[in-house]
Amino acid sequence: MENTEMLEQLNKFTRRQLSADEVFIFPVTLCDNEIDRDNERFSRKSLDELAEKFIGVTGIFDHDPKGGNQTARIFMTEVIEEDRENSIGERYAYLKGYAYMVRTSSNADLIREIDGGIKKEVSVSCTADRQVCSVCGTDRRVKACHHVKGRRYDGKKCFVSLEDISDAYEWSFVAVPAQVCAGVTKKFEEDIPETEDIPESVENTEAANEISREELETNIRRALALRCPDGCAKQVFERVREKLEDGELEELGKILSVGKAPKTPVCLDEYTMKI
Ligand SMILES: [Zn+2]
Repeated sequence: MENTEMLEQLNKFTRRQLSADEVFIFPVTLCDNEIDRDNERFSRKSLDELAEKFIGVTGIFDHDPKGGNQTARIFMTEVIEEDRENSIGERYAYLKGYAYMVRTSSNADLIREIDGGIKKEVSVSCTADRQVCSVCGTDRRVKACHHVKGRRYDGKKCFVSLEDISDAYEWSFVAVPAQVCAGVTKKFEEDIPETEDIPESVENTEAANEISREELETNIRRALALRCPDGCAKQVFERVREKLEDGELEELGKILSVGKAPKTPVCLDEYTMKI
């Protein structure tokens, strides 16, 4: 796309018409349809839904949350298909966003960093209304199934497909530290489905509210990664995890508000920005 067309697009989001000199435009890779380390993935259709919902959404730069001008906004998105397959034999696709920042004296350094291709991770937060088990097709937001993510059934790895994206509310940049600490940053929100959405048969059964220790650990990992994006808290958790009794783990879950009931993981994954 020509720069002038891009400018036209982004000026739809500005109070006054900005000129090419006033803005800094850059691409970000937001997410893809590959199974991630939490054994979850966006379907191709979800990527299309995200493409629509991310337009106009503001991104933040974690390393300087106080900076008034340290935000960028996505004004255009496209889903790009590559000529290769993802790990489950579907055509690999990713969501690319185009973001802009209005150039000011205070964000000149940040712009130089992005322009210079300093490696960043991008996290996205969104809500997936359905989270479908790849083995049995159960929507795990509504009811639990006995399949364990990452485990193999009939030779196929179980994963959860994130479907029906109802909201995309944030994306953020995290500078990647050179050391090991860069853990997966996945965000999720507490969003228990309305009671009427839960089929009567499971509403009152304990199984509906039970999650496995493994899932609770995953939720805790995410919550810690969210609170400590450099991954340090998560590393500490990994060291003590096995020593924790079930009750202690549940207590930690409560403190981090990840409880015991199935939550809505929101699909935040880190992707290296391609500039
Ligand atoms: Zn299942």
